[in-house]
Amino acid sequence: MSNVIEIRDLRKRFGSGENEALIYDGANLAIEKGSFVSLTGPSGSGKSTLLYLIGGLDRDFSGDIRIGGRSITGMNDSELSEIRSFMLSYVFQFYNLVANLTVEENILLPIELSGRKIKDYKHKLDDLLELTGLTAKRNNYPSQLSGGQQQRCSIARAVLTEPEILLADEATGNLDSSSGEEIMKLFKRLNEEKGITILQVTHSPECAAYGNRIVKLSDHKLVE
Ligand code: ADP
Ligand code: MG
Repeated sequence: MSNVIEIRDLRKRFGSGENEALIYDGANLAIEKGSFVSLTGPSGSGKSTLLYLIGGLDRDFSGDIRIGGRSITGMNDSELSEIRSFMLSYVFQFYNLVANLTVEENILLPIELSGRKIKDYKHKLDDLLELTGLTAKRNNYPSQLSGGQQQRCSIARAVLTEPEILLADEATGNLDSSSGEEIMKLFKRLNEEKGITILQVTHSPECAAYGNRIVKLSDHKLVE
């Protein structure tokens, strides 16, 4: 099995001098294609930062980060944005849906923005609406959905582009435990049925247990 994410000797700090905050100090991590990894650790320790670094959204680090075998360190902006639109997708705690677009329009938005043809995704859209339990809600607006439904909509939006990697940052942080469990079951299906590699940040031991591997951010390093 090959590694879709590889982090070697990662060093990262914010600020300098008195305001310096050390985040990573020689962290290593290898994530195999098709795995579902849960990342846990204290608040403020650098979990969100790691997801930004992996997506090339924060390029101020030392060490090496490889996505699909390619180092992002030396990539230019257009190579990085290609990785972001074709290799990986993010899901956040807050759903970031566009209020005046329907469920279906929200899910199609990344396809539209990247200049791809919507008609090529028609079948996949129907399939994802079914998988996320949103078929009956496809023409509704976000305000007409529960929190769990809004998050499922944002997950459908994240995976319609067929990313290899899904990065989820406390996706259930704003949900009650039963809606949170639905999201975890959805992640499990996306991982097992669509083969999407998932790296999720979570505070909840119940949610973390859905992953097939738990990694902890501890003492500025990533440990099993
Ligand atoms: P976590 O997601 O584990 O709660 P974060 O990755 O958000 O932690 O943040 C780790 C630490 O880095 C925190 O102390 C935070 O305040 C700090 N931090 C995050 N982003 C920045 C930034 N852009 N500038 C300065 N400090 C930051
Ligand atoms: Mg965070």
